[in-house]
Amino acid sequence: MYGWNGKLLRVDLTRRKVVVQEYGAEMAKNFLGGRGFAAKILWDELTVGMDPFSPENRLIFAAGPLTGFALPNSGKLVVAAKSPLTGGYGDGNVGTFAGVQMRRAGYDAAVIEGKAEKPKVLLVKDSQFEFLDAKDLWGLTSFEAERKLRANYGKTAGILSIGQAGENLVKFAIIASQEGRSGGRPGIGAVMGSKNLKAAVFVGSGELPAASPKDMKEQGLQAYREVLAKPDYAFWKRQGTMSTIEWSNENSVLPTHNYSEGVFEYAEGIGGFTMEKMKVSNRGCPNCNMTCGNVVKDADGRDAELDYENVAMLGADIGLGDLGKVAALNRMADEYGLDTISLGSVIAFAIEASEKGLVEEKIVWGDYDKIKPLVGDIAYRRGFGDLLAEGVQSVAEKVGNGSDRWAMHVKGLEVTAYDCHAAPAMALAYGTSLSGAHHKDAWVISWDIEKGRESYGEEKADKVIELQRIRSGVFECLTTCRFPHAELGFEFEWYPKLLSVATGQEITRNDLDIVADRVFNLVRAVWIREFGTKWSKEMDTPPARWFDEPLTKGPLKGSRLDRAKYDALLQAYYRKRGWDDRGIPTGKTLNALGLGDVASQLRERVGLRD
Ligand code: SF4
Repeated sequence: MYGWNGKLLRVDLTRRKVVVQEYGAEMAKNFLGGRGFAAKILWDELTVGMDPFSPENRLIFAAGPLTGFALPNSGKLVVAAKSPLTGGYGDGNVGTFAGVQMRRAGYDAAVIEGKAEKPKVLLVKDSQFEFLDAKDLWGLTSFEAERKLRANYGKTAGILSIGQAGENLVKFAIIASQEGRSGGRPGIGAVMGSKNLKAAVFVGSGELPAASPKDMKEQGLQAYREVLAKPDYAFWKRQGTMSTIEWSNENSVLPTHNYSEGVFEYAEGIGGFTMEKMKVSNRGCPNCNMTCGNVVKDADGRDAELDYENVAMLGADIGLGDLGKVAALNRMADEYGLDTISLGSVIAFAIEASEKGLVEEKIVWGDYDKIKPLVGDIAYRRGFGDLLAEGVQSVAEKVGNGSDRWAMHVKGLEVTAYDCHAAPAMALAYGTSLSGAHHKDAWVISWDIEKGRESYGEEKADKVIELQRIRSGVFECLTTCRFPHAELGFEFEWYPKLLSVATGQEITRNDLDIVADRVFNLVRAVWIREFGTKWSKEMDTPPARWFDEPLTKGPLKGSRLDRAKYDALLQAYYRKRGWDDRGIPTGKTLNALGLGDVASQLRERVGLRD
């Protein structure tokens, strides 16, 4: 096989064993890599009702057939497991040398099970494997742990680690790398912590398996040149995703005060142009020539890396309009290994609950002096922080009093930073995203606004599916960053071409669409098998706040989602996907995608329709 190494690592932390397992061309062709491999492994190996923190859960690091090649933005790695936050399929992607080095060491994925008796570091150095004592690293931030490991294994070693949040099983703990890159929002860092695995270090010295290394090099160079020549390149380098703050505010979609509003009076103070004045450098993922991590000095004088999502959620959504302070919260979250989006959401929920007198703690919007120590309390699960560490769905269950109506999540995963009071297609994208409410599967918001915010036409379902194929399917399986295509207009046709050059096989866009649909349906099946008869279309429905409480400010004052129209749009989406009215794939759909075994299991579990 070219493109793929054809090997993955099986790591058993309980028995301290590593076995190299070969996989065949069928697995490569049908699931591609990254999210596809993770979905296949979790489908095959998870048991229904399993505790996500049990040793039996699988922690997966999965690269794709383009990962590590010298071509645009190929330094991403998917991390996945059964999520402790949602109870369903959970994953995320991290920009990291760990993916590149794992591939150079000769492996496309690592599947980690069991639980180490004491904290450990997994070291993979080509064909050598070690379980190192992590006693001196346990309790450190992810930044500190990585620096210590880097001192031993060198500047180019690929390192994944967790901070205190992962150690303390915070349900939205992430896996971190390179002081600012992170992934695994649905608590994948907590799964790593539950296994007593502080870090994984990959060092590889092999060549990546291109069918024609010469062609790969030429195509890669040309692709880099095309990215550089894109008209928006220079502005992207200046602001990355940060200009979205101003755009969101202008379009009334900037989550403000726990998504009760879409405009924030201090948006300018946390926007892209304010950030530019504070910026000291750019950081980014391996193999990227459009690095989008904006490094600024935070309120404490430390370096902090900003992007749209973390600024919207730790700024407008919690009512904080000082970018230096937003940056300081963000830096703390990165060090502790907390997901910034979920962190912003649980803090916003806590403030609103305080305002309504539903909790004893007194916190108001933008109350930095109270919020800052709360971030540490969440990471260490102290006092009120221990409750918030469970994620907003669980917190609302405990707080009661109808607070579930403004607990901003879908399937237990906190909503990312777009208010949907007047954005039906984006609401659908959140409703049907594979890990819960995440924009990465279909960032449809700008198209939604352009097409008409009142419209619930079926073309909105078509567009969500189209984007899910590209983003959730192709980019998450190739494990290349979507931004060259999504933000700069680097043509999508490059990807089947590059894949053909890497693998030596003719791979068309249609082939990629089929893989994307197969993987989408398989992840869906993981959820449905897990939830069984509790599964319902309500799980694909965004929070009640967007339907029941209109915006009270801004140009779209009075707007809210229409429940009957949303339901009709959701049913149209189901039909187009080949799913029944419960949102469960039909036997015909699964069989057409080569998922006959999945159909058999689901038939028994939920009474599959044909
Ligand atoms: S554009 Fe940003 S997220 Fe994408 S690879 Fe580059 S640095 Fe990473």
